[in-house]
Amino acid sequence: MSSDVVKKIAQLVRAGAALTPYTCPACGTVLVRLKTGELYCANCERTVVLVRSDEEAQQALEVVQLREVRRIVFDKIIQLGKEIEKLSAPEMVDHLRSLSLLLDIYERLAKIHGEAGREKKT
Ligand SMILES: [Zn+2]
Repeated sequence: MSSDVVKKIAQLVRAGAALTPYTCPACGTVLVRLKTGELYCANCERTVVLVRSDEEAQQALEVVQLREVRRIVFDKIIQLGKEIEKLSAPEMVDHLRSLSLLLDIYERLAKIHGEAGREKKT
């Protein structure tokens, strides 16, 4: 560990972060737990998701991928919402149906993330 990194960790701890017994899987630096609960590597300067097994790694990956899907769905909802403004009432029906479907999917994806978040805390 370079003295720069040690200094950075000390700064983080002074700011309320906690030292952990975990090390960064990329560089081996001791990880700190930020006030937000995230693990952070002061050397890589990024948050680190620690996984204990292949199954957990797969789950973490799925959550990240679903988050990306949620972002795409969200963009579509905004896009559709803007288009509705320009449409006549009969044309609007189809758009609103699509919008309703997208909102359903978005809500379900949000629920999955809520559940994943709760699992992590236990
Ligand atoms: Zn690192």
